[in-house]
Amino acid sequence: MNYFYNIHRHNADLLADEIAIINNYPNDPIPHSGLFSCGIHPWYIDEQNVTTDLQAVEQALKNANCVAIGECGLDNRVETELVTQQSIFEAQLELAKQYQKPVIVHCVGAYAEVLSAKKRLQCKQALVFHGFSKNLALAQQLQNADCYVSFGKYLMTQEHLPAILKELNLQRIFLETDSSDYLISEVYAKAATALQLELIALQELIQDNFQTVFKREK
Ligand SMILES: [Zn+2]
Repeated sequence: MNYFYNIHRHNADLLADEIAIINNYPNDPIPHSGLFSCGIHPWYIDEQNVTTDLQAVEQALKNANCVAIGECGLDNRVETELVTQQSIFEAQLELAKQYQKPVIVHCVGAYAEVLSAKKRLQCKQALVFHGFSKNLALAQQLQNADCYVSFGKYLMTQEHLPAILKELNLQRIFLETDSSDYLISEVYAKAATALQLELIALQELIQDNFQTVFKREK
């Protein structure tokens, strides 16, 4: 059977042939089954509780079904100061190193800062920039820095993105639905058309990428 791998979504109402990484925040209960990630999102930093939130993330990482840390990252458009965000993001990169997990990255207007944190901390774990909506040069810069780029709702709605997808290194892409109402099968159909690939070929390609980064079959 060919599956639809969805590397980032916020609820667990999956299609029968969908394998998804459900996003958990630090205080969410650990799911009884299925893959999940856990991280402190830059929108929801609670400065009074950073230590306990980081402990909760670390606890989640000890669960075999927790296949990634995140979403976490930097967002230049929220009120929390960037320097505060950076220290919390860097603490999570350290956890990624310690527990050898990839990172699902939320990044708005701070790509250089995310890449420099990765470099400075010598974090060799895969960084997956989710919800990509920017330009080809940036996507290629991320891929050339050993990172992955994931496409979802913006691929469905923004006309420049299918053409960008076509130019990318396909060994370093993922697909997702995040918190949108799109089905992952619809995102795959859009990407397959953009790439002029049969759906099954795209499914095999993303499955290979998934197994490389998240070390899981399903
Ligand atoms: Zn999300």
